[in-house]
Amino acid sequence: MSTGRSKQRLLIHACCAPCSTVPLERLDSEYDLAVLFYGPNIHPRGEYQLRLADQRKLCRRLGVELIETEYRPAEWGRSIAPFRNLPEGSQRCRACFRLRMEQTARIADQRNFDLFTVTLTVSRHKNSKVLETIGRQVAEDFRVAYLAVDLKKKNGYNVSVQRSLEFELRRQDYCGCSLSLTEAIQRRRKSGTVER
Ligand code: SF4
Repeated sequence: MSTGRSKQRLLIHACCAPCSTVPLERLDSEYDLAVLFYGPNIHPRGEYQLRLADQRKLCRRLGVELIETEYRPAEWGRSIAPFRNLPEGSQRCRACFRLRMEQTARIADQRNFDLFTVTLTVSRHKNSKVLETIGRQVAEDFRVAYLAVDLKKKNGYNVSVQRSLEFELRRQDYCGCSLSLTEAIQRRRKSGTVER
């Protein structure tokens, strides 16, 4: 895609600051970056506000534009409703990824970005191939391309933990939604705190 600009514009979906550290560090030299904070999946509201506050802190520190959206948990509830009895990693999460990618692609399209991607591939619990497949499908409906990157490569997860310490970013032990919070509580009961 020819833009006439020196760098392509990339919109990165984020729903927590720790996972944003690695893509902002790795992609900054190649792209003109902005972050979209869209977290209808985050539960409860207080957790959403804490994650947003850290996202603001990180973007301010790194000088990256942050686009914020309203907190609309009903959007997430509708999107995963047929799958709410399924566990983390199932179709429930694929529906959640799709919802967040569609909103990211929509805003990227409206604001003349060239590409969009997600921070989710930093997590050891997220399959990058699954995310890539959904990202490419979503991109077909918008005038933006999906940038497929597997951020957990090159020790990405451990780097995100290190950066979180350096930047004093709070980490959580659950993915974000009410269902994953329940699952995390069950894990804690079985084996103590589980680091994501
Ligand atoms: S576990 Fe994470 S990816 Fe899966 S539905 Fe919940 S918030 Fe979405």
